[in-house]
Formats: sequence, C-alpha cells, structure tokens
Amino acid sequence: MKVLVINSGSSSIKYQLINMKDESVLAKGLVERIGMDGSVLIHEKTGDEKVKISQPMKDHTAGIELVLKMLADEKHGVVSSMEEIEAVGHRIVHGGDYIKSVYVTDKVIQDLLNSKDLAPLHTPANVMGIQACKALMPDTPMVTVFDTAFHQTMPPHTYMYSLPYECYEKHKVRKYGFHGTSHRYVTERAAHMLRKDVSQVNLVSCHLGNGSSICMIKNGKSMDTTMGFTPLAGLTMGTRCGNIDPAIIKYLMDKENWTIDEIDEVLNKKSGVLGISGVSSDFRDVEEAAKDGNQRAQLALDIFIQRVRNYVGAYVAELNGPDAIIFTAGIGENGIELRERICENMDFIGIQLDPERNNIRGKETYINTLTSKIRILVIPTNEELMIARDTEEIVKTLRVNIVGP
Ligand code: ADP
Repeated sequence: MKVLVINSGSSSIKYQLINMKDESVLAKGLVERIGMDGSVLIHEKTGDEKVKISQPMKDHTAGIELVLKMLADEKHGVVSSMEEIEAVGHRIVHGGDYIKSVYVTDKVIQDLLNSKDLAPLHTPANVMGIQACKALMPDTPMVTVFDTAFHQTMPPHTYMYSLPYECYEKHKVRKYGFHGTSHRYVTERAAHMLRKDVSQVNLVSCHLGNGSSICMIKNGKSMDTTMGFTPLAGLTMGTRCGNIDPAIIKYLMDKENWTIDEIDEVLNKKSGVLGISGVSSDFRDVEEAAKDGNQRAQLALDIFIQRVRNYVGAYVAELNGPDAIIFTAGIGENGIELRERICENMDFIGIQLDPERNNIRGKETYINTLTSKIRILVIPTNEELMIARDTEEIVKTLRVNIVGP
C-alpha cells in the first residue's frame, strides 16, 4: 500500500508518500505560502534533486492538487496515476478526547471543528488539509493521527490542573500533552532495542527540537508529559517560555501595557532560547554564539539544560528507575554537547553517559557506559512513518470488515 502522509499548517503543507511494502519514502515535499504572494512547492523524489515550482495557490485544495500532480508527474513523479495512492494519513495536532488514530468520517471532522478552540491555530489548518484531500480524492480512505492521543492514558491526578473543577467540566481545561506520535514511535523502537515487549518498557523520552517535551512512559503508556493544555508548557523551547509563574502574565501586561494577544505572542514567539539569548531560536546558532563568548547565549543553553535535567530527574524518580532515557528530534538526535551536559553528574540516579559512544548524530544507538544502570538511547524519530503505519492498519482492518470474514 502507498500512503500519502499530510501535515497541513495554516499556510503550508508537508507531505511524504510512503511505500508500506518496505516503509520507504518514495517522495516528499513542502508547499509554502498558501494564499499569499510567492506560493511555492518544493518536491523531492527520493534519490533525485529537489524541484521548486512557484505558482499561485489560493487555498489548500490548490496546494494538494499540485502535490498530487507532482506525485504522478512523468519526470518527477513516483506513481503512474493517483489511484495508486491507496490511503491518506493526516497529522492532527489536537485530537481532543480521541484516544487513538481513527478513520475519517464526517463526524470526526465535526468533532475536530467543535473542539477547535482548544488549538485555534492548528485545528482549522489541519481540517483544511483533510477537506482538500476529500475534494480531490473523494474515494480514497483517510485516517487522522492525533499528537495528543498517546497521552490519553495519563491518570486524572496527572492531567488535572489545580483550578476550580468547573474549569475542567465546563471548558475541558486539562493537560493534553503533544508530540505523542513521536513519543509513541521512539517507545516502540526502544522496546525493540531493549528486546522487550512494548507493554513492559519504562522510559523517559526526551523529544528536543524547536518544540520540546519529555514524556514519562510506564509499561509502554504515557503517564505524564511536560507539555500541557497547550504546547507552551514545560521545557524552555526555541521561542516558547515553558513553565513560568502565571502571575507574571498580569504583572507584565500592566507594566508594558500589553494586550492579551501581545503577551500571548511574547510567550509563544519571543521567549525561550531566542528570548534569553537574543541570538536565535536555532540551537546551532546559540551554541556557536556561546562558544564565541556570548554570555546570554550561554545562559539560554544553561537554562534549557537545567529544565531538561529537572524533568528527567523527576520522571526517573517517579518511575523508580526506567529501563532507558531516550533522546530524539533535532537537538536530541544531533546535540552531542547538549546530551553530555544533560546527563552530567547523574550517576547517583543511575545515568552514566559514555562520551565516546555519544559522539554520533542522527543514528539509532546506545550512548551509555556499560555500568550505567539506566540505558541512554538516541533514536531518530519518524512521525510520518508512524502516521503511515496507523493509516495502513486502519484501512486494512476496515477493508476486512467490509468484505467480511
Ligand atoms: P521541529 O520541532 O521543528 O520538528 P527539529 O526536531 O527539526 O524541530 O529540531 C530543530 C532543532 O534541532 C533546531 O534548534 C536545531 O538547531 C537543532 N539541531 C539540528 N541539528 C543540530 C546539531 N547538529 N546540533 C545541535 N542542534 C541541532
């Protein structure tokens, strides 16, 4: 089965076409600036040079139309006709109460729209991607894979905030957690590496990228995670502040005369490593500036590392010692020095990093010493593959049920 994976943002669409026979990526690409001047598609057939096509794309349907055209293109395409694409998997940031991936029906779309206030920037954009695909491929089955679903196993004492109970009952204010597809993927890989069944692994999964979150996994299930009601909570990130004292919000609004939208923008887009360093949200730039003696860049890195260590320590203690700690996503997979500093002086709780083994980027491997009680794993994440796997499984099950035993 060939599965098209779609990640639709407000003005962009990322895509991959995956051949499930061997789980290889046939082609991938990105549409940017939808509905704006300078709309562009960058398409890459595996093994070929990237091609860039600039043409007006007024909406997501126009964007997906061009993607499908490229996938079936004589020169740059990878399928002979659109019918070869047997299913579409959509990445959905906020799945509300959905506990696992589902086949797309009108009810699913309605449920997403009904809960769009929970993720007002993401949900409408995700739904636009679904609707564009439905319009262009009405007979192709589709599946939604939710970033929140993996965390639906968190117990109430973890996901409830200490607010008046009505805030939860009336407005669904609770911890949802994000990056679930990534945490689930690395959990499965870690179980494989540890030669254990997924239902038996206890892990601390550190997804450290532009957005970062750590997840505590017990018996293969998410029991806690650092992101919250929104992805703003938890760790210091590229541009997000992570946990701060909520009283700061009113204080700063009063002092700076900021509106609620302005403070929201500051917390989401101008804080974190960018806000502290004043250099960049990209860790490579910040590390370089710190090496050149920029003290605020160094401070930003120190803050990031300290917050990661805080949660690793807490989750390791709560699990009474996991089997492994996982590093994944851009920084987790590539940040050699950052990994070393995060794991420094943690031998008391059973974490010992081997600096030589740690000298790798983007490779699935162990980086702990032989005497470390807790394994340390680097696992490149692959959210698209996870989405494609769920999509194939659901679509195949559906076919069996329709055809009958
Ligand atoms: P996103 O959340 O957008 O998917 P990524 O997982 O791609 O983000 O992570 C992006 C981050 O990873 C950037 O801050 C980037 O600096 C960092 N990163 C990528 N390569 C390296 C590297 N070699 N060393 C340190 N950080 C890196």
